[in-house]
Amino acid sequence: MTATLEYHLKRIFGYTQFRPNQREIVGQLLAGHDVFAVMPTGGGKSLCYQLPAAITPGTGVVISPLISLMKDQVDGARDLGIRAEYLNSNLTPAAMSDVYRMLEQGELDLLYVSPERFAMDGFLTTLSRTPINLFAVDEAHCMSEWGHDFRPDYLNLTAIRQRFPAVPIAAFTATATRKVQDDIAGRLQLRDPFLVRASFNRPNLYYRVEPKGKIREQLLDFVEQHRDVAGIIYRTSRKDVDATADFLRCHGIKALPYHAGLSREERERNQDAFNRDEINVIVATIAFGMGIDKSNVRYVVHGDLPKNLEGYYQETGRAGRDGDPSLCVLFFGRGDIVKLRYFIDRIEDAGERDIARKKLYGVADFADQPVCRRRQLLAYFGEDYPAANCGGCDVCVGEVEKADESRSAQMLMSAVARVRAAFPADHIIDIVIGNDTAAVRHCRHHDLPTFGVGREHDRDYWHALLQLLRERDCLRTDSDPAGGIVLTAKGKKVLFGHEKFLILRPAPGKKRARRAPVETAAAGNHDLFERLRQLRRRLADDADVPPYVIFSDKVLTEMSRALPQRQREMGRISGVGEAKLRKYGAVFIEEIRQFLEEHPDVLPAGRLPIMPARSRSVPSRSAVNDGALAQLMTDGLALTEIAETLRTPLRTLTRRLEAMLDQGRELPLDSLVGTAARLEIERQIALSGRHESVTALARQLGGTFDPAVIRLVKKALPAVVPLR
Ligand code: ADP
Ligand code: ZN
Repeated sequence: MTATLEYHLKRIFGYTQFRPNQREIVGQLLAGHDVFAVMPTGGGKSLCYQLPAAITPGTGVVISPLISLMKDQVDGARDLGIRAEYLNSNLTPAAMSDVYRMLEQGELDLLYVSPERFAMDGFLTTLSRTPINLFAVDEAHCMSEWGHDFRPDYLNLTAIRQRFPAVPIAAFTATATRKVQDDIAGRLQLRDPFLVRASFNRPNLYYRVEPKGKIREQLLDFVEQHRDVAGIIYRTSRKDVDATADFLRCHGIKALPYHAGLSREERERNQDAFNRDEINVIVATIAFGMGIDKSNVRYVVHGDLPKNLEGYYQETGRAGRDGDPSLCVLFFGRGDIVKLRYFIDRIEDAGERDIARKKLYGVADFADQPVCRRRQLLAYFGEDYPAANCGGCDVCVGEVEKADESRSAQMLMSAVARVRAAFPADHIIDIVIGNDTAAVRHCRHHDLPTFGVGREHDRDYWHALLQLLRERDCLRTDSDPAGGIVLTAKGKKVLFGHEKFLILRPAPGKKRARRAPVETAAAGNHDLFERLRQLRRRLADDADVPPYVIFSDKVLTEMSRALPQRQREMGRISGVGEAKLRKYGAVFIEEIRQFLEEHPDVLPAGRLPIMPARSRSVPSRSAVNDGALAQLMTDGLALTEIAETLRTPLRTLTRRLEAMLDQGRELPLDSLVGTAARLEIERQIALSGRHESVTALARQLGGTFDPAVIRLVKKALPAVVPLR
C-alpha cells in the first residue's frame, strides 16, 4: 500500500516524499475513516484529499468557502491531470448543467462546491445518485461560532453525515482551539476521527524585528532589496495602505493596494494581478488573507504592529508555502502600542478590553523580549519548541543582542519605591536625572539617595525604559485620577535583584544578512530561472490561469539547477508529474536547451548540450532571423507580412518582438499592427486595466485580434502609465 501511495504521489504530483501527516491522512481516508486535521498554512492539505479522490472510483466533494479561489483550485487540479470541476453562482446555467452531467456520468474525480449549495433543493439528491468517495471540508473553522470566521452557510454541512453515512469526511483548518475543534467534530458528526494536529512551526520562515523609523522609506528600502520576488506588506489603516502603495509605485515598484474600502472588482483585480505575478507587491490591510493561494510569496512585512500574535502568525504564514526560505519582518515602534491602546481603551466590555490588552502586550513582548521569535510564536499555540537555537530568527542568529538593563531599571524603580506615593512619570524621571523642579523641591525629593543617579542618560532614554517597564508589567499606572506610577510584584523582583531585566538591541558590528534567507532559494542559474519564469508567464497568460498553477518557483529553480534536457530528466524534477510532463515538458526543455546553446559555459564539465530540436510544435526563438526582421520592420511591413516573408508562425514572431522590447528596443508598432488596431487594443487595455489577461482582452475585443498581437501591444505600453 505504502509503495503504491508513493507511486501515485510521484505520478500525479511529481513529488517523491510526503510532507508530515500527508501519508497518514491519505491512508485513513482510503480506509474510509473520518479525519480531523489542524495543519498550518502551507502544510499541504490539498494533496491530502486530492490524492485519495483521484485514485479511487467516484467523486470527491470539496467544500471551499471562497468562490474566488475555486477556479484557481480547479485549474491547478486539472493541470495535474485530475478531472475537477466546480459549482458556484458564477457559472452560467449551461455550464452548470454540464458539470451536473459529468458528475452523474462519473466523469469527475473532484467537485468543488460552496457551502450554500448544500442548502439548495435537489443538490443532495443529485449527489446521492453518484458514487462519492469522500467529503473534504476546507477552512472547517468557519463552522464554529467560536471561531473567528463563522459562516452560517457552513451549518448546511451538518446534513452530510446523515445523507452519506458511509462516506468518510475530512475536516481541515489552520486554526482551531479545543472548543472550535469539538464544535466542528460535533456538527459534522465525525466518527472517532483520525486526529492530526501538525506542528505550527514553519521551518522555512525567518523572523526578524526591526526598529520602526521613517516607515515608508524603510519599506521602500526593503522592497528594493527584494526586487525580483513577490511579497506582501501589511499596514493597519486603509489610508496607510493607499499611501504606501502609491509611494512604492512612484519609485518604480509594481505595487497595488488591497483593503475593504476598495470596490470588490478592484480588490479582485489587484489580488489577481498579484496571484499572476503581474505585480510584485501587494500592500494590504488584514482584509487580505484567505484569497491568496500563491505559493511563492517570499516575504511578509508588517509596517505596523499587529493586534495580536495569532494574526501575526496567520499573516506571516502566507509566506513560503512552497517550502522555500522566506522572510517575515516586523517593523516595531513603541508609538504603535500607544495607538492600538487608544482603540482598545475604548472597548466598552471590560472583559473584552482586558483580553485585547493582554493580546497587544503579547505582540509587544514578542518584538521586545530577548527570546527566540519562533519559540514565542509556537508557545502562543501551546506548542513547545525544544531546540535551544532555531537558526531562523534574528535573536538566535545573533542579529540582535541581549543587553542587561537591570541596573537602570533598578534606579528607576527605586525612585518609584522611595517616593512612597504614586507620582507621575515625569516627576520620577526628574528625580533620576537630578532635575530639581519646584515639585521635586516641594516634596524634598532632591534629598533622596536616588536623586541624580541616572545623569548619564537623557530624558528620552528614561522615558523609553519606563514605558518598557510598564509593558513588561514591572510598573503600572495607579488607578487614582492623577495616574501615578507604582511598582508591581514583578517589578519588585527586578528591583531586589531576583530577576534580570533584559532588552534587545541591534548587535553592533554585526552586518545583517539582509537577503540571506531569501537568496538561498535561488540556488540555480538565475538568468535561466528568469527565462523560465517568463515562459511560465506566457503559458499562464495564454491559458488564463495564475502562473503557480503551471509550476511553482521551486520547480523552476530546480530546473535551472538540474538543467534537464530530456523528458526523462525533466520527469525527475520534484513537482513534475505525468500530466505536467506531457503538457509542459517539451516547451521547458526547449527553453533550457536554447539557453544552454547561448550560454555553453553554464553546463558543468562532462555534460553536453543537446542541440535544440527545430520541431514545428515548439516555437523556436532562434528561428527568427534578427537581421532580416530588423530590415523588414524598417521597410514598414506589417506583422502578417513579416511572418509570411520569414515563414515564421505569427506567435513565434511576436515572441521575438517581445524579447526585443524586453531588451529596451523600440518597435514601429503602428506599421506592425496598424494604427487603428493599436489604438483600439490600447483603449481596451485602458478600460479593463493592465492586469486583465490577454485571453480576456481578446474576448472583450470581440475576437477580432490574435492574442499574440494583443500581448505585443500590451507589452509595448510604456511602463510609466499608471497601473490602475
Ligand atoms: P495549504 O492548503 O495547506 O496551505 P497547499 O495544499 O496549498 O497548502 O500546499 C502548499 C504547497 O506545498 C503547494 O505548492 C504544494 O504543491 C506543495 N506541496 C504539497 N505537498 C507537497 C509534498 N509532499 N512535497 C512537496 N511539495 C508539496
Ligand atoms: Zn529563534
